[in-house]
Amino acid sequence: MAEIQFQNLWKKYGKVAAIKDLTLNIRDGEFLVLLGPSGCGKTTTLRALAGLETLDRGRILIGGRDVTSLPPGRRGIAMVFQSYAVFPHMRVYDNIVFGLRMRHVGDAEQRRRAEEVAELLQISPLLGRYPAQLSGGQRQRVAVARAIVMEPDVLLMDEPLSNLDALLRLHMRAELKRLHRELRSTTVYVTHDQTEALSLGDRIAVMKDGEIVQCASPTEIYDRPASRFVGGFIGTPPMNFLEGVLRRSNGSVAVETSGGAIPLAGVGGAAVDGSVIVGIRPEHIEVLAQPQTGSLPAEIVVAEPAGPTQLLTVQAGPQILKVTVPSDLPVQPGSQVWLRLNPARIRLMDPSTGAALAAR
Ligand code: ATP
Repeated sequence: MAEIQFQNLWKKYGKVAAIKDLTLNIRDGEFLVLLGPSGCGKTTTLRALAGLETLDRGRILIGGRDVTSLPPGRRGIAMVFQSYAVFPHMRVYDNIVFGLRMRHVGDAEQRRRAEEVAELLQISPLLGRYPAQLSGGQRQRVAVARAIVMEPDVLLMDEPLSNLDALLRLHMRAELKRLHRELRSTTVYVTHDQTEALSLGDRIAVMKDGEIVQCASPTEIYDRPASRFVGGFIGTPPMNFLEGVLRRSNGSVAVETSGGAIPLAGVGGAAVDGSVIVGIRPEHIEVLAQPQTGSLPAEIVVAEPAGPTQLLTVQAGPQILKVTVPSDLPVQPGSQVWLRLNPARIRLMDPSTGAALAAR
């Protein structure tokens, strides 16, 4: 069992707190992604787990064992970095078995394990080559092979795909997913790429300024962001935000914006009448040629074709919104349209804290 527990971790560099009171439980066999903007503390958290960084406070447990003061080699982990860090003067085979040799694993066992992981990563024909004779993607596979051949309880990856071109990233992403399904080792994966996080994670821990601001499944994070920050960080393009005032009359609820009133399906107990932010994803806004009750008048500013869909930039009153519509919807820049926000998909936020309001 390799459940990981972070208990109230603190790490400061001078006056900068890189991690602030971070607490998180990662389940045995889970693929957990640490996601957040540059400088939010992802790498520091991963390095602390690996034993490469000393904490100021807090405890780390792996499989129930307190590893906080153990050196990296005694934590049962293996790590794959952004830079592949394969030894250039060694053939692929020797790169893969390097760690096993250091642990004095017998030659026959080394060969058996190297062949098994090479098969898994589909690099068997490359075992006799030097790293310089490999593509970036192949080199990265060697780095992954070298980590998993150690049969670690925990696999750590820090932006392992960021040096690869877009197509190769897509391919390797699927490979890593398959690999995890086969190995089931507890994996902690650091990235600032939200598409990668949504695709790979069983759960995503979104970080900001050294803290975890939401930890949930990709669907939950996407559909029900805990704050304006999360909604604005996840999604391409990100969630739209409109300012307005929540009002109830005759049993119905609406948010009045400068462009018009947006009807809501209902509000949670935490939402009181007053200023709110309406959060809505670009694909949950419908573009109409004629006004309907509760639709907002808007003008199309730009239409960008994006294959099966097109991305519209529209202006509704003073607010600019992004809307995703089918590619065959006839639209002209400069034309007048009406926007219908799907009430079931609206997420209300508190304008002062940015926190999502309950039940929406
Ligand atoms: P990135 O995506 O850019 O790698 P990150 O989320 O991994 O960012 P960290 O590398 O964990 O962020 O850094 C968190 C904070 O700690 C940043 O403000 C960074 O400048 C600071 N920091 C990290 N390492 C050190 C160090 N060795 N000395 C001083 N400050 C550091």
